[in-house]
Amino acid sequence: MSDDADYRVAVTGTPGTGKTTATTLLDAPVIHVNELIREAGLWSERDADRDSLVADLDAVREALGDWSGVAESHLAHHLDADRVVVLRCRPDVLEERLRDRGADESKAAENAESEALDVILSEAVDRHGVENVYEIDTTERTPADVAADIQAVVDGDREPSAGTVDFTDYL
Ligand code: ADP
Repeated sequence: MSDDADYRVAVTGTPGTGKTTATTLLDAPVIHVNELIREAGLWSERDADRDSLVADLDAVREALGDWSGVAESHLAHHLDADRVVVLRCRPDVLEERLRDRGADESKAAENAESEALDVILSEAVDRHGVENVYEIDTTERTPADVAADIQAVVDGDREPSAGTVDFTDYL
């Protein structure tokens, strides 16, 4: 899967941080990876406890091929990319967003804890290096503001910023 962009920006973050909403507002070609996983059946098993699909990452990488533009998903940091944006959200606000979206209590709480523990940020830094990771706090910010910050990363107008958010008080 490819298009005309000469960059690969992965936008990741715990479910509920607003990836889908903000990336829809970008002036860039966007691949919504979770949609692709569902539509192309790129999953290996169904996680009954979590009522979710376990993605087959090798199959996802193969389907994306020599992709370019923006790829958004809570799995996007597992892809090759030039820059990785990690959207963050204060865990109590995140939990509320997920409940409002219809997630059950345990799933919302699990994601809030994962957010407080920096799980995705750590994985992104491990794979891509601190110099390629851009953390953006979406708490109490509008989707348009978040999109503007992501756009600055896409356009090369923002400095890397991993480690700027600390939600450990919410553990
Ligand atoms: P993700 O793709 O990261 O799982 P979504 O974009 O689906 O997140 O957003 C999760 C929920 O939070 C949705 O109900 C959405 O309307 C809401 N939301 C997204 N961005 C914001 C924001 N900046 N402020 C408040 N609510 C938001």
